[in-house]
Amino acid sequence: MSTHTDTRVLSNYIGGRWVASTASDQLDVQNPATGETLARVPLSGAADVDAAVKAARDAFPEWRRRPTIERARWLFGFRQAVEAHADELARSVTREMGKTLPDARAEVGRAIEMVEAASAIPQTMQGRILENVATNVDCETIRQPVGVCAAVVPFNFPAMVPFWFLPFAIACGNTFVLKPSEQVPLTQELVFNLIDEAGGLPDGVVNLVNGSVDVVNGLLDHPGVDAISFVGSAKVARYVYERAAANGKRVQALGGAKNFMVVMPDAVMPKTVSNIIGSAFGAAGQRCMAGSVVVAVGDAKRPLLDELVARTAELSVGDGLEQGVDVGPVVSGAARDRIMEWIERGVEGGATLAVDGRGPEANPDGAFVGPTILDGVTPDMDVAREEIFGPVLSVIHAASLDEAIDIVNGSAYGNGTSIFTESGAAVRRYRHDVEVGMVGVNIGVAAPVAFFPFSGWKGSFFGDLHAHGPDAVEFYTRKKTITSRYFSGGETGTFFVESSSD
Ligand code: NAD
Repeated sequence: MSTHTDTRVLSNYIGGRWVASTASDQLDVQNPATGETLARVPLSGAADVDAAVKAARDAFPEWRRRPTIERARWLFGFRQAVEAHADELARSVTREMGKTLPDARAEVGRAIEMVEAASAIPQTMQGRILENVATNVDCETIRQPVGVCAAVVPFNFPAMVPFWFLPFAIACGNTFVLKPSEQVPLTQELVFNLIDEAGGLPDGVVNLVNGSVDVVNGLLDHPGVDAISFVGSAKVARYVYERAAANGKRVQALGGAKNFMVVMPDAVMPKTVSNIIGSAFGAAGQRCMAGSVVVAVGDAKRPLLDELVARTAELSVGDGLEQGVDVGPVVSGAARDRIMEWIERGVEGGATLAVDGRGPEANPDGAFVGPTILDGVTPDMDVAREEIFGPVLSVIHAASLDEAIDIVNGSAYGNGTSIFTESGAAVRRYRHDVEVGMVGVNIGVAAPVAFFPFSGWKGSFFGDLHAHGPDAVEFYTRKKTITSRYFSGGETGTFFVESSSD
């Protein structure tokens, strides 16, 4: 049941002001804990995309000329504004996406960290120079912005993922168009209100277009878009990568995941179990870095499973805005039904339910799935191979570290992984051999901080340059190399490269 307490229709932010979408189609934005309709999001189309890209193009010449330190100073002010509204933003994340308030606060903290890292742009955007590449000839590489950059983002981090791109893009002198997830557009509405209130950006430097597939296709095909960043499911990531590249755009597309956590017999068990629980069930398993398979090596299995099952069964499920709740709802009723089917599929495939999360729902209008553990899973089962994106943890047994590495490397994905052990030799072996982009050692969700790059490998990523950290500056700049000499400064050579007898 949905209660229409507030059915205002969201707007787009184009050219420095909020404007109504030209679309007549809209979707409900719902609180997944209660079923309450929070707003309606317009499904914008090509005309809205065109207006946003045009505004961004028009703003580009002025913004790229703005001194780098002034662009950084704008980010200092923006950082303060986000911090001052951090609680409001976190509550918005919980309301529209479902994760618990402490988790949402941590997400907003990460978003702020992105702005801080981007503020270092007067240093990180520097080029390089070498004197005397030939007699009296110097060579230098400078970095310039790419142009109009767009980002298409998923539902699971309504605050943070857009910040993987927006601060870095504009710090480098680009202008920007964001398409938020149509499932969770409200937090970015708050962010763009903060941008609007802060002032100081020429109109059109940042734009927001609400909608779904039509907006994405509009951006992918628009000749005025120079670069696209995508974060979402693997299938769409591959599609975005291929279509953007076919249209000659720079592209990075971060996709889905199946993350394995390897537990060695010498792991410090209580802390390992705490990390596994946080990783598997935090945000109700809806993180691209969620650990969704435990590989228990040798004798680790019994003690690990005993403690894991006991502590998982104690987790409380409910509205993430309430205190003491460990696991909030999943994002929607459709997601809940899909995850329930996955649990059924695991059992039909031969797994046993060590913890069954399909109990009575905390709220009949909400989209709740309790933490679930499937034991006796083998690497060939679907539940071990495909992304479920819910609070479902599969347990596999491996006889040795070698076997565990083979299992992890047998996955089509390669986003994140963790190993739990006190053995330096096992860690060295694991980090060297594992075909995964982000590795944690005794850390369940090893999502790199803002000043390091973030991305997976294999089916989890399509592109070259990862998100944030030094890769963001690489992605958001084009290198230009200048070779120069000055005749009036005493230059006597005849050619660019003189022979030694000259
Ligand atoms: P999704 O792929 O359904 O949607 C992501 C974005 O793509 C949304 O903005 C959506 O409007 C758009 N979109 C959806 N279908 C499309 C289509 N057919 N054509 C064009 N655009 C389309 O993903 P989601 O459900 O919002 O997010 C969850 C997924 O994102 C999971 O697979 C998760 O692993 C992944 N994710 C990955 C990372 C990472 O860093 N690798 C981070 C967060 C989430």
